[in-house]
Amino acid sequence: MLTKENVLNIVNQEKIEFIRVEFLDYAGVTRGRTIRPAQLKDVMEKGVNFSTAIMSFDVFDEYIPNPAFGPNDGDFFAVPDPSTFAVLPYRKNTARMLCDLVDINGDPWHGCPRSALKRLLNEVESLLGGKMNMAFEQEAYLLMEVDGHLVPADNSHCFSTEGADIQEDFIQEFVYSLEAMGVTTEQISSEYGPGQLEINLKYTNALKAADDQVTFMHLFKQIARDKGLVGTLMPKPFQNLSGSGLHVHISLYDETGENLFEDSTDQRGLDMSEKAYHFIGGLLRHGSSLIAIGAPSINSYKRMQPGSWAPAHICYGSGNRSVLVRIPEKRRARRFEYRGADGTSNPYLLAACLVAAGLRGIQSQIDPGEPVDLDVSSANEFELKERGISWVPRSLNEAINALSEDSVLAQTIGRTIWEEFIKIKRTEWDKYSRYVGNWERKVFTSRF
Ligand code: GLU
Ligand code: MG
Ligand code: MG
Repeated sequence: MLTKENVLNIVNQEKIEFIRVEFLDYAGVTRGRTIRPAQLKDVMEKGVNFSTAIMSFDVFDEYIPNPAFGPNDGDFFAVPDPSTFAVLPYRKNTARMLCDLVDINGDPWHGCPRSALKRLLNEVESLLGGKMNMAFEQEAYLLMEVDGHLVPADNSHCFSTEGADIQEDFIQEFVYSLEAMGVTTEQISSEYGPGQLEINLKYTNALKAADDQVTFMHLFKQIARDKGLVGTLMPKPFQNLSGSGLHVHISLYDETGENLFEDSTDQRGLDMSEKAYHFIGGLLRHGSSLIAIGAPSINSYKRMQPGSWAPAHICYGSGNRSVLVRIPEKRRARRFEYRGADGTSNPYLLAACLVAAGLRGIQSQIDPGEPVDLDVSSANEFELKERGISWVPRSLNEAINALSEDSVLAQTIGRTIWEEFIKIKRTEWDKYSRYVGNWERKVFTSRF
């Protein structure tokens, strides 16, 4: 773990000239400033100030005439966490650090997502006696521009080695850059869609996992841009091609290295512990509002279609990819995979809310019922009702309505974040629902 002193020394020795101090806004967009070495010591002590308004920018507006907060809402201070210091392998003399946001007194600011996650992970440790690990699995497309249109950058087929071969130049630079920045990668595959890749990150404690996801998001786009391509985490860039999910593998270990989610006497035969089932019970109970946090964009709902390998229903199962929470086959370490998120989420809010819902499940001993083994997408409304399975929210509006009624998640992320998040997402929905596009115009003008 790097300390402030270590960072100052490295910057000096490596002749780093530019240090980016970064954090994520509520919509998951990275923001920050670049500072010069002479300011570094001071910034690591006191932070860099920003208007609170910048946390709530509307992603659809290129210029924001009326920031969401008024001029009297004041500032927060972004204080870099030295343990996130990394030299950027693809830029000259440049490093970056991820920040915690503090208030004028130097206390964690109530609007800071990274601090909300830290708070919750401390709670998990004191209540459950274990550390939460996560591994993020992001799918993403490489696109290129042809005649003014964005199209997949290759025609590879699912898991074909050809796809990985064609994109080798990008993949190698991306993977080496991640690793140079302290992010360990495990597997690389050409995903279902042409031009679609999946690069799995190694599990680590949930805070670092979220930090690593931020690094992934940034590098994927940056390195693609450097190579003349467009890298995108957009959940459903093409109507007829596979969507891009962000699956999160979740596990809980105590300090002796014992897996608290494992139990070989499991009656359901999946070698999972009661704690694990209750955690899953919490994820399902808060299923709709978690979708608002993990799939927070209008486009997210085009990904979660039945029969697409993205979840369309709130249930869990083993070896079944149509479910929201999947328990991988027994040959692999005991954990489960939350499949409801995508790359438009803020990883700190996502991790915090997953943990909060799971913790509530454990505290209230919520039974998730029996695992679902049928292909849920082929079940009709009556079968679904009989088994107590509901759809995931079908639109951003529906998901946000669920979140606006979830007091557990509101408490977890704190009222400021909860209210601001709901506000910006209602704006996104509102803009989208007023939009009239070519497809709609064509159909309606020819029929009516
Ligand atoms: N692309 C699918 C999704 O959007 C997941 C495919 C897979 O299981 O890897 O979640
Ligand atoms: Mg995948
Ligand atoms: Mg997966």
